[in-house]
Amino acid sequence: MVQIGSRVLVQFGKKKYYTAIVESLHSTAPKGYEVKPIMALLDAIPVVRYPQLKLWHWIADYYLCTPGEVYKAAVPTGLKPESETFISINPDYEPDESSPFRMTERQALVLQLLQQKKRMRISEIEAATDYRNVTAIINPMLEIGMLEIDEKVVEHYKPKKISFVELTFPRGDNERLHECFSQIGRSRQQEKTLVAYLDLSGWMNQRGELRDVSKQQLLDTAGTTPGVLRALVDKGIFRVVKKTLNRFATDTEKHTRTLSTLSEAQSKVLSELKEGWQSHSIQLLHGVTGSGKTEIYTHLIDTVLRDGNQVLFLVPEISLTTQLSDRLRKVFGNKLLVYHSKFSDSERVDIWKRLLSTNEPLVVLGVRSSVFLPFARLGLVIVDEEHESSFKQYDPAPRYNARDAALVLAQMHGAKSLLGSATPSIETYYKASNGKYGLVTISERFEGATLPEVEIVDMAALRKKKEVKGILSSPLRRRILNAMENKKQAILFQNRRGFAPVVVCDQCGWSPKCRDCDVSLVYHKNLDLLRCHYCGFSQQLPKLCPACGQNSIRTFGYGTERIAEEMHKEFDGYRVARMDLDTTRNKEAYQEIIEEFARHETDILVGTQMVSKGLDFGDVTIVGVLNADTLLNFPDFRSNERAFNMLEQVAGRAGRRKEKGSVIIQTVNPAHEVLRYVKAHDYEGYYNNEISDRSRYAYPPFTKVIVIYMKNKDAVACDRAAVIFTMALRKVFGERVLGPEKPFVSRVATYYLQSIMLKVEAGASMKKVKELLRAVIASIASEPDIKSSVIYYDVDPV
Ligand SMILES: [Zn+2]
Ligand SMILES: [Zn+2]
Repeated sequence: MVQIGSRVLVQFGKKKYYTAIVESLHSTAPKGYEVKPIMALLDAIPVVRYPQLKLWHWIADYYLCTPGEVYKAAVPTGLKPESETFISINPDYEPDESSPFRMTERQALVLQLLQQKKRMRISEIEAATDYRNVTAIINPMLEIGMLEIDEKVVEHYKPKKISFVELTFPRGDNERLHECFSQIGRSRQQEKTLVAYLDLSGWMNQRGELRDVSKQQLLDTAGTTPGVLRALVDKGIFRVVKKTLNRFATDTEKHTRTLSTLSEAQSKVLSELKEGWQSHSIQLLHGVTGSGKTEIYTHLIDTVLRDGNQVLFLVPEISLTTQLSDRLRKVFGNKLLVYHSKFSDSERVDIWKRLLSTNEPLVVLGVRSSVFLPFARLGLVIVDEEHESSFKQYDPAPRYNARDAALVLAQMHGAKSLLGSATPSIETYYKASNGKYGLVTISERFEGATLPEVEIVDMAALRKKKEVKGILSSPLRRRILNAMENKKQAILFQNRRGFAPVVVCDQCGWSPKCRDCDVSLVYHKNLDLLRCHYCGFSQQLPKLCPACGQNSIRTFGYGTERIAEEMHKEFDGYRVARMDLDTTRNKEAYQEIIEEFARHETDILVGTQMVSKGLDFGDVTIVGVLNADTLLNFPDFRSNERAFNMLEQVAGRAGRRKEKGSVIIQTVNPAHEVLRYVKAHDYEGYYNNEISDRSRYAYPPFTKVIVIYMKNKDAVACDRAAVIFTMALRKVFGERVLGPEKPFVSRVATYYLQSIMLKVEAGASMKKVKELLRAVIASIASEPDIKSSVIYYDVDPV
């Protein structure tokens, strides 16, 4: 039966089949357009729940995009068969003598083909028959049930294989087993793992049957990590075999399911939050870095699950799901689902279907796209690190902020929401201080740990005194060395990846630019390539300067790759790892870098902003910000906010346990106000300063900002479109229109860009604003320069 949220197959044009989602059921014939028949119903039960559809519409409306764009982002590919529909003969078909259907010659031929080939794509039938319009030929055959359609997902959806661990020799070979123990030597972790395996598998019990031991089960029981297991595999003791399993069928893994006891301070916060929800459905938990927010979240999640409800736990980075999922799995076992973009599509389809098929209490830990999952009974939404700009999707549409969408989703479910941060966004803190949100504050670190001491290092002054070597100032070098000698760890933060961001000919000044963007190329040493960080274009580093022909090309500046290399030389004998976009292309890589650092198998971690976000390592006593100047002084109203958040957060990685940590920030601009607030860990001071600036210059939260972008391959057409658009907007919105102006990078992937900013009063009706905006667009739509430009909107840019 067709229901709201069911997928159906609809034909558009002559060839294309699309899946569509049923949005409403009614019996009023629409006017003004041709109604398409539904070709097939794809699901016995709907794949989308009603509140999801409501959220899609809210997003499309608020962020000025189409519901189709939201649908594309929301639903995993495996649930969206498009044009790859297979046709086959229905084995259960029985001809009905009374039917007026008479097979044509062409239909008979198609039938014959299908008898031979069993299953064919429409395009394959077309190729085999040379018929132009196969769909018209087969439609009547589909209608009477002679043929059937099936979906691509059947092909693309792979059942999950689970890794099992086995010893490489047969049971009973005790000599070999003894040998294993001597091979392991003094590694406690490896020994524990082997003993745990013997225990779980029943190896020593010669009469009982040998039990299967999954990799996860072994790791959990031994309390160890994949690295330890890998070492045992490398030694030839274990092998890992993959076996197919129904992904969610087994709940045999034992979990302790015990919650840690909260400290007195944490318990107080917990009851304050519970009380706060009586009056405010959204609350902000403003807790300094290292204040133990995760423990509080865990207790809240537990309460909600016990009430039989579901929880969405949103974090900004995949690296955080890695660290948190270990902690949460120990408590919630397989009530925990993890969802993010590095998962394969099949894995995502699985999680989607699990949520769809059940009303059971579950907690989903995920990054931004998890707001689209089909929750049945959401009781709580937690958005951790709510200030993070990575909650906002830049490209493609929908350009939504998952934090704000999650709050709307919670409201639709009547659920409570909790935003958590050590550095709340200006908008959120404004709402909390004005009573729109509840506010609970933790101003001290967990278990008496103290906030790290921050030292601002004036690089210009030190350079004069010859106290800078490479990228390290002598104070930072001393601190790192000190940490190493005391068996502690260091994190070094640099907001640039690659080896050298500046490549230039020192004879003529030539510098390589991207072919398709208005940016310089960055040198990557590992790849030995020049790369564009905007579009991915790459080329060889020329041996001779292409402009003057001399052998005089030099590389300057420091990206993470170069820093890792130099640290390696500088701190000889200590282990250096790097975490940035280049070293974390797959989900295993994230996990490995983080776990190895957590186990103290690496000593120094060099990384981009990935290392700043909520990671929790006990042994880090020094954090170095190598070049704060790349964060300060951006020509944009969020410059200070971004810099403060980033610096305070990365500083917060230091000294999270008993030992006091320290932070060194290297800059040529030591008097910058943001640095002053970071040094004092003074969020309030920073906030007060920032909010008065925002008020003075009419920026959010005092206004709403919509940025309108235009892109065009023709630079002149792009400029003209921007002027036409701006003039039309001014007629309606007057002074609220700023621009047009070229963005910071004014050409990306062969497109020239222009932008216009629309600032409207915070209290204005956004519905009205968008109506007016649509009217403006309609009035200029026929202009050739507008027509040839791609226009899109960024609502609430971050
Ligand atoms: Zn040159
Ligand atoms: Zn490029």
